[in-house]
Amino acid sequence: MSGLLEGRSALVTGAAQGIGLAIARTFIEHGASVTIADLDADRAAAAAASLGGGARGVGCDVTAEQQVADLVAGAAQAHRGLDVLVNNAGITRDASLRKMRLEDFRAVVDVHLQGTWLALRAASEVMREAKRGSIVNLSSMSGKVGNPGQTNYSAAKAGIVGMTKAAAKELAHHGVRVNAVQPGLIRTPMTEAMSAEAYAATEATIPMRRAGEPEEIANAVLFLASDLSSYVTGAVLEVSGGRGM
Ligand code: NAP
Repeated sequence: MSGLLEGRSALVTGAAQGIGLAIARTFIEHGASVTIADLDADRAAAAAASLGGGARGVGCDVTAEQQVADLVAGAAQAHRGLDVLVNNAGITRDASLRKMRLEDFRAVVDVHLQGTWLALRAASEVMREAKRGSIVNLSSMSGKVGNPGQTNYSAAKAGIVGMTKAAAKELAHHGVRVNAVQPGLIRTPMTEAMSAEAYAATEATIPMRRAGEPEEIANAVLFLASDLSSYVTGAVLEVSGGRGM
């Protein structure tokens, strides 16, 4: 199946690498024009260039209100509207409760919760005017089952689920759908930072006995972004090889 996003305009945050880059690539393969946003403008531009025509790269810190407002306005202007937003930017600052500092907690909550909320608020304004749009928020299985060493990240990712459902209820009658994806262990720079032992121990708990690939998350996000999911809103889709089901 191809062309699921033909003529659509999409914005993906944190898309210079990992899952976000795979989402941008998949969207372009399906005919979308994509704005790739990331903290570092040069990395965003390089990622866009690597995907060829149809992508533009923009620097944006999703925790900064004005930067997010400018990002959304710029994406809508460059591609004549905004049909899809993917809130993907993310960080981890793992530590046990005994070792986690307040700044580790705040940094993670700021990027995931505040960042997602800022882009959701700005994009939904554009989408409700157009009476159509799809917003996909990256949560995590950590937000469903809780991971030791991730009290900050698990709380933020669970918060994204509540935010997704509240926004879905507010926006449904405006033609805007809001859904979340909960990836399990996916092979990206974020998880390559784990120790080999921790990675192997996590992988051993997966019923499918392997980590997922970024493209497997991108395909789930494509489903939620496209009209294939036209009657789906407020849903949380687990893409985890069965882990945490
Ligand atoms: P990744 O490889 O670390 O990529 C995340 C990207 O977000 C990086 O390019 C990062 O830039 C960027 N970013 C960080 N803070 C930002 C900010 N304030 N504003 C804009 N961009 C920012 O991570 P990933 O594994 O692809 O994860 C993507 C999403 O999926 C995240 O929300 C993550 O929590 C979620 N997720 C991942 C997994 C997994 O196993 N990989 C599992 C569940 C959920 P820098 O590199 O410069 O920091």
